[in-house]
Formats: sequence, structure tokens, C-alpha cells
Amino acid sequence: MIEENLAEYDRSIVETMHGVLPDVFVGAGAFGPRYAHVGMSITRYLLASDLDGTLIPLERDAQRLREVAELVEAMKASEGLALAYVTGRHLSLAQAGIEEIGLPSPDWFVCDVGTSVYRRTNGVYEPDPGYRQAMTAALGGLAGDDVRAAIGTVEGLELQEEEKQAEFKVSYYTRGRPEAFLESVQSRLAAAHARANLVASHDPVSGRGLLDVLPEGIAKDYAVRYLHDASGVDEEHLVYAGDSGNDRAAMLTGYRVIVVGNADEALKKDLGIESVARGIAERIYFAEQPYARGVLEGLRHFGLLP
Ligand SMILES: [Mg+2]
Repeated sequence: MIEENLAEYDRSIVETMHGVLPDVFVGAGAFGPRYAHVGMSITRYLLASDLDGTLIPLERDAQRLREVAELVEAMKASEGLALAYVTGRHLSLAQAGIEEIGLPSPDWFVCDVGTSVYRRTNGVYEPDPGYRQAMTAALGGLAGDDVRAAIGTVEGLELQEEEKQAEFKVSYYTRGRPEAFLESVQSRLAAAHARANLVASHDPVSGRGLLDVLPEGIAKDYAVRYLHDASGVDEEHLVYAGDSGNDRAAMLTGYRVIVVGNADEALKKDLGIESVARGIAERIYFAEQPYARGVLEGLRHFGLLP
């Protein structure tokens, strides 16, 4: 009889707790704000992912879009997973890209090859003030406008469209090979005491030469380290996903890494060798699947998703 009563008593406590807990956690009553805050702000994991060629497939067929939707659905089930997109794109183009294929709005955007960090504040993306300070310092106390002024007019060098410029990145088209302009641009920057890296490349579509002027030492890896600090997640809970050479430095920083299946073969080989040399081979996961499916496969491998 006593035992029976006890059992009844235990069950009633359990029922009461189950009945009360959800109300507390959704923020009812006097403890509401405190619990609601705790409930919303726990960030335990961070997925920092490249967009083009990683989350944004190069082919836009229905199958690829379904794979994106599958990843998005799986991520919804994960508690405490923050999201950052790390891209060469400008903010507006990055936003257009994720909307087009149905990727969720992230907590952060890292744009302009790592020279801009935007943080979501009340649903709006604002430049991160701490990151802007770091970029100004990296450029030797200057901003992009000062860099433009220092370079001035150079025969054969033409500023790219305004939407391709950023606060701390200045981009030019070159007539002919961009390498031919490195010396003259470098000397003008030195005269203005700018500290900058020049990145020369070639647009295979238009056939034009491209020349980017970036703050010294700034690329995606610098921005990912900044996100690590800003998010407060443990090092082993930060996962970076990418597919190409401009992700390489970020992939060798020591975080957990997903190399999507469609990544450049040369990059895979290089990461395989480098990660062994640095003793971080077990942190790099080479997914079998391409694009979003590869990211999903990797998140499961690292235990961020069931
Ligand atoms: Mg990419």
C-alpha cells in the first residue's frame, strides 16, 4: 500500500515537472526573460561555410535544390548551431544567392574574400565594428577609398563596377595580364604607407585580368578565427566547409573541416599531405557526396547532427 502510494507520488512529480517546464522555458511568468534569453542564446556549434561550389551548387537542377532543402531541414533539428557564410561575394550578391536556392539567413556573413564581417542584429546585417577596426589596422590605418586615391590613374587599370568594391577591398580590371601591373601599384601603395596584399587572377569567362587590393594578411582564415572568438564556441565545435583553393588557409587553421566531394582534386591531395604534416589529419573530413549533401555528411561525421 505504501509502495503504491509512493509510486503514485513519484509519477505526480514527474507529470508536474513535465507540465511546468515547457512554460518556464518559453518565457512565461516572472522568470520569462531570463529563461527565454538562455533558451535563445546558447551557441554550441558553428558551421562556417563557403557558398559557391559548396552550399551553392554549380548546377541548378531540381535534384541539387532538393539536396539543399534536405540539409536545411536537418539543420533545423540541431539546437545551438550558429551559421556563417564565408564568401568572395559582396553582401547583396551573397544574400541573393542564398535566397535563390533556399538557404537560411545566417548569423554572420563574411564577404569580400574575408575583408567584411556582417553580424545579424534585429534581422538586419550590420558591419561588425570590431572587424572594421581590425581591417583598418591591417591596411596600415587606411580604408578602401584611401587605397583608390593612392593608386590613382594607371594606364590599363580600370576600377571594377561599384558593387564589386568593398570598404576594405579595391578591385580592378587590367588590360592584359594583371601581373604586369603589380610593381607600379605596389610602389604607389608603399608611398601612401598602405599595407596591402595584391591578388592577381584571370576571369576565364570574360578573359579579363583581375587585380584585388586587400588588407595585408587578410583572407577567409583570418575571418574564421575572428568568428571563433566572436561566437565563443569551442575550437572542436567550429566546422568549416569548402571546395577550392581560396578555402585552403581556413581549412588548415585547425578547426574541423568538411571538404565537399566535388572539391578540386588538387586541393584534396594537397590537404591530405599538409594535414598529416601539421598533425591535424583527423580534423579534416573528405566527404563522398558533393555540395550540400557533402556538408550534411560531414556535419553528421563530426556529431553536429544526428
Ligand atoms: Mg567555393
